[in-house]
Amino acid sequence: MTETLPEAQTPVKQALRPRPAINLDNAFFFESLTERGELSIQQCSDCEELRHPPVPMCPQCHSLHWAPKAMSGRGSVHSYVVLHHPIVPPFEAGYIVAVIQLEEGPRVVMNLEGVERETVQIGMPVTVSAERMDEGLVLPVAHAGGRA
Ligand code: ZN
Repeated sequence: MTETLPEAQTPVKQALRPRPAINLDNAFFFESLTERGELSIQQCSDCEELRHPPVPMCPQCHSLHWAPKAMSGRGSVHSYVVLHHPIVPPFEAGYIVAVIQLEEGPRVVMNLEGVERETVQIGMPVTVSAERMDEGLVLPVAHAGGRA
């Protein structure tokens, strides 16, 4: 006869955020966030064009040479959506996903926090920081409000 734990003691497996598909082109993006707390963007080593999302070849000059460049973390809301359905754990209804216009030029999609969904405005200043979602994942998150 096997014993089973009473329901109250059954370990609850917590849902984790979906994992990014990491490859040779975008690994630096997640390593910069995890290891240095930096938001880094791919920069062409020949024409200095910044590009995101990461790709092997510069769309400007077709160079295959590039290096990661740390961004300031300052930006603004270019666009956003409020997600209601379907709700997939660990997310809760009503969170905001925004396209953030970095002051250096590139746009990056991330969660926007520190503002109610009714008061988000296109163009409002944000500050981006690297935040640990769980043991194995650090992502950029935008917070309403600028910084000096
Ligand atoms: Zn280039």
